[in-house]
Amino acid sequence: MSDPLRVLLLGGTTDAAALGRQLDRDPRVAVTTSLAGRTRSPAPLPGKTRNGGFGGVSGLASYLRSEGIDLLIDATHPYADRISHNAATACAATDTPRLHLLRPAWQETEGDRWIRVADRTAAARRLESLGRRFFLSLGRQDLGAFVGLSDYWFLIRMIDPPDPDQALPTGEVVLGRGPFDQENEMDLLRQHKIDAVITKNSGGDATYAKIAAARELDLPVIVIDRPTPPVGESVTSAGATLAWLERHLATNAIATQDDR
Ligand code: NAP
Repeated sequence: MSDPLRVLLLGGTTDAAALGRQLDRDPRVAVTTSLAGRTRSPAPLPGKTRNGGFGGVSGLASYLRSEGIDLLIDATHPYADRISHNAATACAATDTPRLHLLRPAWQETEGDRWIRVADRTAAARRLESLGRRFFLSLGRQDLGAFVGLSDYWFLIRMIDPPDPDQALPTGEVVLGRGPFDQENEMDLLRQHKIDAVITKNSGGDATYAKIAAARELDLPVIVIDRPTPPVGESVTSAGATLAWLERHLATNAIATQDDR
């Protein structure tokens, strides 16, 4: 049998964790999952993991070379576009095949009242006509645009409690990690008399319930559009990712036979 293919899985999402579990069971693959280190106690992951940035494109390229990485799978969050672009550039520089697993975006459906905006600054500019009380369902790094907007009150959902020195928008923090369900989300919105929801278009099932809850309660949702992903091979499912991997495993097996 040939040596296992070394796969670097850029993670931080539920899709990446599920894929990591599948890959970890495959003896033809040696997978390392890389996390940004944003979450203090991430859900347990199988196999080898590493934490924290690589140090930009050059750091990632050095890592790919020094660890002898054969393939890179980018299964990061659709809004984590810096690491995705870095991965594209570093893989091109080191000739490492790369696949982007990008879960499909949510689509607006009948009854939704979406207001699509380009970024969080544009989101903050749209509040005035919508009310006073907002449910902020964004990442810790995204909250800055809403700090100091003293005319508004925010219900801020976070995975981890905020650092004591983090500036927060005026309001209340509620801690929670998906998956969330629609009934609970509706209760939360009602209880806090929320006028509108502010969210990214993360896609997937785990955090969709707030969208369905807002639809049911006839509330507007400010949806921050996704950044543009890097050019290159891209799929939307774990199945398609595994098919891509199989093609590389087959090529690797042929190359190993030829070497004998
Ligand atoms: P980012 O802006 O793409 O990345 C910033 C830097 O963090 C990268 O340049 C890289 O540092 C490091 N990094 C990011 N992901 C990494 C990974 N998987 N392994 C190693 N290093 C990684 O991403 P972000 O700052 O994490 O988040 C941007 C947006 O995505 C936010 O809106 C956030 O809420 C959302 N998001 C991210 C994650 C996540 O796990 N990253 C999860 C959920 C939501 P170096 O340049 O030093 O390599």
